[in-house]
Amino acid sequence: MSAALRIPKAANETRKWVYSFGGGHAEGDATMKNLLGGKGANLAEMSKIGLPVPPGFILSTEVCTHFYNNNNNYPDELKAQTEDALKGLEKAMGLRFGDASNPLLLSIRSGARVSMPGMMDTVLNLGLNDQTVEGLAAVSRDPRFAWDSYRRFLQMYSDVVLNVEHHLFEDILDGYKRDENLTLDTQITAEGWKEIVGQYKKIVQEETGKPFPQDPGEQFWGAIGAVFQSWMTPRAVTYRKINNIPENWGTAVNVQVMVFGNMGEDCATGVAFTRNPSTGENAFYGEYLINAQGEDVVAGIRTPQQLTVKGKIDNKSDLPAMEETMPAVFRELDAIRHTLEKHYREMEDIEFTIQRGKLYMLQTRTGKRTAQAALRIAVEMAEEGLITKEDAVKRISPDALEQLLHPTLDPKARKEILTKGLPASPGAASGEIVFNADEAEEKAKNGKKVILCRVETSPEDIHGMHAANGILTSRGGMTSHAAVVARGMGRACVAGAGEIAIDYKSGVMNVKGVSFRAGDVITIDGSTGEVIKGLVPTVQPELSAHFQTLMGWADSLRRMKIRANAETPLDARVARSFGAEGIGLCRTEHMFFDADRILRVRQMILAETVEEREAALAHLEPVQRKDFAELFRIMKGLPVTIRLLDPPLHEFLPHEEKEMVEVSSALKIPADKLRQRIERLKEANPMLGHRGCRLGVTYPEIYAMQTRAIFGAACDVAEETGESVIPEVMIPLVATRKELDLMKSLVDQEAKKTCTGRKKTIPYTIGTMIELPRAALRAGEIAETAEFFSFGTNDLTQTTLGISRDDAGMFLPAYQEKGIFDRDPFASIDVDGVGELVKIAAERGRKTKPDLKLGVCGEHGGDPKSIAFFETVGLDYVSCSPYRVPTARLAAAQAVLKKN
Ligand code: PEP
Ligand code: MG
Repeated sequence: MSAALRIPKAANETRKWVYSFGGGHAEGDATMKNLLGGKGANLAEMSKIGLPVPPGFILSTEVCTHFYNNNNNYPDELKAQTEDALKGLEKAMGLRFGDASNPLLLSIRSGARVSMPGMMDTVLNLGLNDQTVEGLAAVSRDPRFAWDSYRRFLQMYSDVVLNVEHHLFEDILDGYKRDENLTLDTQITAEGWKEIVGQYKKIVQEETGKPFPQDPGEQFWGAIGAVFQSWMTPRAVTYRKINNIPENWGTAVNVQVMVFGNMGEDCATGVAFTRNPSTGENAFYGEYLINAQGEDVVAGIRTPQQLTVKGKIDNKSDLPAMEETMPAVFRELDAIRHTLEKHYREMEDIEFTIQRGKLYMLQTRTGKRTAQAALRIAVEMAEEGLITKEDAVKRISPDALEQLLHPTLDPKARKEILTKGLPASPGAASGEIVFNADEAEEKAKNGKKVILCRVETSPEDIHGMHAANGILTSRGGMTSHAAVVARGMGRACVAGAGEIAIDYKSGVMNVKGVSFRAGDVITIDGSTGEVIKGLVPTVQPELSAHFQTLMGWADSLRRMKIRANAETPLDARVARSFGAEGIGLCRTEHMFFDADRILRVRQMILAETVEEREAALAHLEPVQRKDFAELFRIMKGLPVTIRLLDPPLHEFLPHEEKEMVEVSSALKIPADKLRQRIERLKEANPMLGHRGCRLGVTYPEIYAMQTRAIFGAACDVAEETGESVIPEVMIPLVATRKELDLMKSLVDQEAKKTCTGRKKTIPYTIGTMIELPRAALRAGEIAETAEFFSFGTNDLTQTTLGISRDDAGMFLPAYQEKGIFDRDPFASIDVDGVGELVKIAAERGRKTKPDLKLGVCGEHGGDPKSIAFFETVGLDYVSCSPYRVPTARLAAAQAVLKKN
């Protein structure tokens, strides 16, 4: 482009920093939250749709950014633009700012893009001084109100702008009341407030060395500066950090004409929700106070009254409702409630003030609500035609849904948090500390609630985990034994709480210097990872008809099927009741956890000859067959993926003396010889050791036995029910096609033998888990043998990142704190790395076999963010623990809506 064509920026082109609203107009709307802040954008919007909003103007968030980028200086044009806007207000109100006889007063409030409750500053009644207070007294014909307003202003301004400590003013007020024998602020007369104002001014002079500013212009810029500066107060900085709010967003400042709820008995102020925020009921819900200003409602000095008669009855209040005391204004407010819901298509949280019988809206924003309320509101709004079913499905966060399925901590309860671990399995639970599984079982039998506290858990703790109300471990990650098993059982679990030291010998658990013994009560919150001292009351979940309705809508929208990881009949039944469409992973080694079975498994692992092993297997085969048959029955013709044995050996070897003795007598070998065998089997790196199909390669008789049990059971159930049974046999930890070929021919051979013997045809498929990077990369050739792939994303994460599943808890929190990982990669898939391998394997596999069935059975199958990713890859199903099935159904529907 030639220089001649460049159009220079007009010298007089000015940037807009100030946006006005009021009287049915606004220079902005609700879509402009980034520029005007949440509060300002909604004030503009309400103004535009004709609601009664006191007029005002907004200094945009860009002013804040400019202020901080330019050494705390405002943009050059700001002063002139503000003066213009102020003139507009004066004109609209027929008042003048600083006028001694009829003054315009202002409220100055912060307003970031998202609400940061109580974090930044506010100044009300701005513009009062020794002259204007007399004017206000005269026009309001209420000197008491005028002097009360002046003292409130003095107090707020001095605190926020001049940094005079708040308590100094409180001390004066308390002293006055004491001297005059008064108990309530409302008993203080105009003269009284006047005297207090005098004392307040004195304190300001003493503390700041200057008189309280009398010039309204100086007051105005002082307050604006203080609000912008409150963006950087330590509490605001901390709040932003916790809530991931970027610093460069800045805050806007809302300047608005003051309206007064404290000018007499025909005045009031209040807050309300357009629907009940705790139950979701479509009923107006709120409180008001007659003759009061906003902060009185929040301060809790007076008891607020209910808006509606219904609210009065529900809350057993004997104070009259607004519906009774101010029926006409109430009707107007109730109509606004409907207007707002129709306009925003949301449940709104509003603030209002009534000045001498006239209603003003001061704020509207999306109302916060409990999980239960969110569900009811979304479903009912869709049924009322306010939103679509898709909107309703989109609006429920999967986390909220998860809360509905598990007990949660009573939000009103006080809690003393001792430490935090990983939120391994959701739900809250309290109980007495126990340090071992037997004790957990014993105490639970006697009706005690217990929390099983272990360094880590292993298969022999299963009975204790089952008996316990919750499980706490000091070591291990999101896919450690404790986490996976607890999630499967629906037990609350906090794993890898590294600040806890458990000493089994002395029976002491030490948390940051505080000691706890067996019998002491603690509470854990498996949804947040918190470990809390003592008993915190919990709220039990209740599944409503709204839940079923929303789930139905989600099901009609989703593409992916949802299966469950389940191995016990109980798990399978829970999974079906939550809507699982089959079993995506039956971990056969988990079927051996019962005390009598684990002995046989140990016998099988520790056998030195084929005969010894066959003897153990002979015990296990009928047991397995019975279990498989039960799963087939419960799943009624739905697919059941059974994974052949994949035991990381360290999880199964006997550790304690008692177990050693049991195995030694079962195997009929002396204890010291047994110890030698165990020693030989110990692996330096069990997760990468003799597990998965490596076990089938070295001991084919194990997989042969399992295959016989699967097909024996399939024949049993097919005969018994006359219905189809769909076993899918899955080979774990495959790295090469050859491993799979070998295992497939073994399974085919045993299946054939079993079915021919029974004269039955059982249709089945054989597939593999993809849980090693090599398998993902060589998926093209593996798919020549496999009929399905199931991504074992737990191991795939472990092997791709080279991070041990069992030890991750020790250092991953630091990685998250330092921002290396946004989320725990064992909980939410690492899309860029592990995810890419999933994508590659899916593409290469499907290239070889276009109808190759693809699923996920790692823990990520129940994680909403990961589910959204799996939808983009086009997987056929995800499989997760039974209690996460509803969450997965919802997340799968949301994933489709997000993609479209
Ligand atoms: C996996 O690795 O993702 C998996 C499902 O198998 P496991 O957790 O049993 O190793
Ligand atoms: Mg695995």
